[in-house]
Amino acid sequence: MQFDAQWLLLALAPVFLACIGWEAWHLSHTRPRTASNATPDSARYAWPDTLCNAALALMHQGADKLAWLVAVPVYAYVYRHFRLVSWQPGLVAWFALFIGQDLLYYVFHRASHRVRWLWAAHVVHHSSVRLNLSTAFRQSLMYPVAGMWLFWVPLAMLGFTPEQIVAIVLVNLAFQFFVHTQAVGKLGWLEYVFNTPSMHRVHHARNARYIDRNYAGVLAIWDRLFGSYVEEDAHDAPDYGIVKPLASCNPLKATFHEWLAMARDFARMPDWRSRLAALFAPPDWCERHDALGLASVTAPATPVGTRYGVPENNTEGEFGSRNS
Ligand SMILES: [Zn+2]
Ligand SMILES: [Zn+2]
Repeated sequence: MQFDAQWLLLALAPVFLACIGWEAWHLSHTRPRTASNATPDSARYAWPDTLCNAALALMHQGADKLAWLVAVPVYAYVYRHFRLVSWQPGLVAWFALFIGQDLLYYVFHRASHRVRWLWAAHVVHHSSVRLNLSTAFRQSLMYPVAGMWLFWVPLAMLGFTPEQIVAIVLVNLAFQFFVHTQAVGKLGWLEYVFNTPSMHRVHHARNARYIDRNYAGVLAIWDRLFGSYVEEDAHDAPDYGIVKPLASCNPLKATFHEWLAMARDFARMPDWRSRLAALFAPPDWCERHDALGLASVTAPATPVGTRYGVPENNTEGEFGSRNS
């Protein structure tokens, strides 16, 4: 009987749950519990947060199953009619598939932070103020609507079958489970090659120097190649979450709050250019647009050396997409 790759994540569920059990035990033995009025330890498990993550995982799995029903025939059609390469079955083909999909994942993930339509789905993954292995489960059922599956179409053009595409997408996602932890420090030379817990803690942080960095799926090389890599600094501990906190453990609110905010912004924009920008510009475009409008009322000219009234020495990332 052949294993259906679509069930990979469910098949690995016992491994994931065992790791979560180990992490919770490890944290309870190594990190002293904070006083009730102190800031909660972001590594620790809290029932409302963990249950929200579990609910989001189940919702995401259901949506993903439905999405493959649409996506797989599209991949099959492209594979049959438009493929540019035919691979001999074997390790070389799988290695090429792994590299190609991991690069496309980097593109997808970076776009998910810089295009609001995609961010509306991806924000779910970033909206907890905690970071532990259960945070990996925190996914959006809206990814199929946002169009995540379209990013893998080039793999069909490159000669990979739908079954191979589904398998490698899920292997990539399964790997990423293991980088959502504060229980593991830096991993030496592995930091140069692979996405690691340290590298991904930076990605989940909203500190000015960390925000919108380290988009890696499996390989760290893309961030280093394309200039989005930042190393975790022991003197600047990651502060997890989004800039405007969600302040809710309701999985429905986590899933839809940014879609609703985006719809409201779309409706209130005065013309089609700005309506389209509300959907497809960077997630903070509307706020910048509003600030610019206000500035034009209160001050006749934008001061020289600023970008949307923001001091020029700020990078894009400092006012990045975690503004939801
Ligand atoms: Zn992200
Ligand atoms: Zn993550």
